[in-house]
Amino acid sequence: MSSLRPPALFRIWDVALIVLLLVLVGLTLYFALIPSSGEEAEIYLNGEKVATLPLSVDAVWHNEHVRVVVSGGTVCVSESDCPDKVCVARGAISRAGESVVCLPNRVVVVITGEGEVEAIS
Ligand SMILES: [Zn+2]
Repeated sequence: MSSLRPPALFRIWDVALIVLLLVLVGLTLYFALIPSSGEEAEIYLNGEKVATLPLSVDAVWHNEHVRVVVSGGTVCVSESDCPDKVCVARGAISRAGESVVCLPNRVVVVITGEGEVEAIS
């Protein structure tokens, strides 16, 4: 008649933890695969943030070297005077965590997923 081990209780919490992890993984996959309208494109010039553009609003940011276009929930470098044109060839990005880099012009465009929090709650 030992009462040292309460295995049923631990199993319940194990299952709860696994379910919670599965839900978190599912939500992460969901928002990784489906672009949320709350995401934003951050534009950095020489390492400093110079613009934050919501992907839900079509917009254009440019300086004398680079033109960044937000259109239809995606963002791309549409024009650049850099020699390699790697940034233009990168094409449009739309998912949080993706980025377009133009090394010669020191321009970085990063999509942030801050809007995901609002979408969950
Ligand atoms: Zn470039």
